[in-house]
Amino acid sequence: MIEGYFDDTEERRKQRQNGTGWIEVIVGSMFSGKSEELIRRLNRARIARQKVQVFKPKIDARYSREEIASHSGQTHTSLPVTTAAELLAEIEHDTQVVGIDEGQFFDMELVEAVNRLAAEGKRVIVAGLDQDYTGRPFEPMPQLLCVAEFITKTHAICVKCGSTANYSQRTVESDARVEVGAADKYEARCRKCFVPHADAPTAG
Ligand SMILES: [Zn+2]
Repeated sequence: MIEGYFDDTEERRKQRQNGTGWIEVIVGSMFSGKSEELIRRLNRARIARQKVQVFKPKIDARYSREEIASHSGQTHTSLPVTTAAELLAEIEHDTQVVGIDEGQFFDMELVEAVNRLAAEGKRVIVAGLDQDYTGRPFEPMPQLLCVAEFITKTHAICVKCGSTANYSQRTVESDARVEVGAADKYEARCRKCFVPHADAPTAG
C-alpha cells in the first residue's frame, strides 16, 4: 500500500491548474485494499469540497446496494449501475470527481466512458481486480491501465506463506469467471502458492 502517495503530486497540481481531467486506476488482488484506497481518495475529495459521484456495478450486492465497502468495513455512498452507458447518463455536469468500484464487472465501453469524463475535465478514479481466479487479465482493467495517467497496484499478504500476494485464489469449485464473494470463496496468495483453479482453503 502506498500511504499518502497520491494526494498532491506535482503533475496533479499542474493538471488541476489548467482544468484538465485525468484517470487514476487502482488494481490488485482481493483483500489488497483497493476499495479502501478508493474510499480514502473520495473522502479526501469530499473534505476539499469537491462534488463527488460514486458508482458500482449492480452485480456486486455483497455488502449494500447503496454503498461501496472495503473488506475492513469502510463505506462510501454509491449508485449501482448496470452498464457504462448508464453510468455516463447519471453524471451531473458539475461533478468534479467520479469514483468507480469493481471496474472488472463493467463492459468494455467503460474505457471510452472514462476517457470522455477525463476529457471533460473530471478526475476519474477506478478500482478493480486486475486478474481473474485463473490469473488472466480481467477486462476492462488492462485497457484502463493503458489509458490511465496514474496507476496504483495494491497487494495483499499470502495466507499460506506470508509473502506479498498478487493473486485471488478461489477456494470453492466453480468454472464461472464471476463468482461474487469474499473470504468464503477466495483467499490471497503469492505467485508461488497460487494455482489457477479452485484449491482447498488454507487451514487456520
Ligand atoms: Zn505464498
